[in-house]
Amino acid sequence: MKRLSFIVIVLVLNFACKRVDTINEPQVKKAKNIILLIGDGMGVSQIFAAMSVKEELLAIEKFKHIGFHKTYSLTDFITDSGAGGTALSTGKKTKNYCVAADSTGMPFKTILEYAEENKLATGLVSTSSILNATPASFIAHDTSRYNYENIALDFLDVDIDLFIGGGRKQFSNREDKLNLIDSLKKKNYLVVDGLENLNTEVDGKFAVFTAEEHNPEYLNGRGDMLPVSTEKAIKILDKNENGFFLMVEGSQIDWGGEDNNIDYLIAETIDFDNAIAKALEFAINDGETLVIVTADHETGGLSITDGDMKNKTIVTSFSSDYHTAVMVPVFAFGPGAEEFGGIYENTEVFEKMMKAFGFTK
Ligand code: ZN
Ligand code: MG
Repeated sequence: MKRLSFIVIVLVLNFACKRVDTINEPQVKKAKNIILLIGDGMGVSQIFAAMSVKEELLAIEKFKHIGFHKTYSLTDFITDSGAGGTALSTGKKTKNYCVAADSTGMPFKTILEYAEENKLATGLVSTSSILNATPASFIAHDTSRYNYENIALDFLDVDIDLFIGGGRKQFSNREDKLNLIDSLKKKNYLVVDGLENLNTEVDGKFAVFTAEEHNPEYLNGRGDMLPVSTEKAIKILDKNENGFFLMVEGSQIDWGGEDNNIDYLIAETIDFDNAIAKALEFAINDGETLVIVTADHETGGLSITDGDMKNKTIVTSFSSDYHTAVMVPVFAFGPGAEEFGGIYENTEVFEKMMKAFGFTK
């Protein structure tokens, strides 16, 4: 009896000590859906800074499968967001400033294009312009990330189901006078101005513009645009019975780093984490969705030199006003998540997504 009560106590203690904030992995092996969330410029320090000042746990703390990738590009030890995005989207390292292409303009096929080819629904969401380097590297092919008008034209070549972000100007008020808003409508897109006007009950393809160029900062009036966009995008794309691929970018973590502005950086990281929460919430219920959270590189060389866990304060310093070379973390949940442990090249993220979907090249 003594022995039995000892076992019972151990079992109870064991249960009580178990982290209740982690999540159980689904048993399905193939991913029907993939949600890839990219925190531009989000290294370990950025995440820990957000963790240190927020009262509640971050959603990102729920992941159990964690790895790191090496971010250097084909040409540079320090990648830009074009080459960084291209490695994640196509599995190929390229020259800095190229998007899903090599330096001669030879296009690299993206995971979004593979998803389209396999009859999945596809989407892009960004807190910058939707034409900026990170989202562009999933849909456009260009030797320069700054060829915004050409990048906008590339959106019309891929049958993407939904995109949400800034960048209306390069569709509607172009140097070449083309009206790409009309072109989108001719291709049966519902062109929506403002996220609040996106009705997820309506069926169709959506081009949602939330700003003429970039969206404002979170601290300057952007509100919950990113988590709400993530939630709405999932609702729309999930209507496709074959599954979906969605990329969500927290673009301005990078800009907070470049500005060496810790308040900007932390607000953007927590906002991005709120989008991660939406993706995880869906994936936990769905059971067939792989959620991956990573960055294209670290920005700012952020270090945390002191702090106070009780008062939720930190002391920080920056060593750069651009990107740094350090490895960045990868977090995964869902079918195929166990593949993301370890240290690998940024290009491997693409390969692991292809494998999880069961796509062949
Ligand atoms: Zn970047
Ligand atoms: Mg970006």
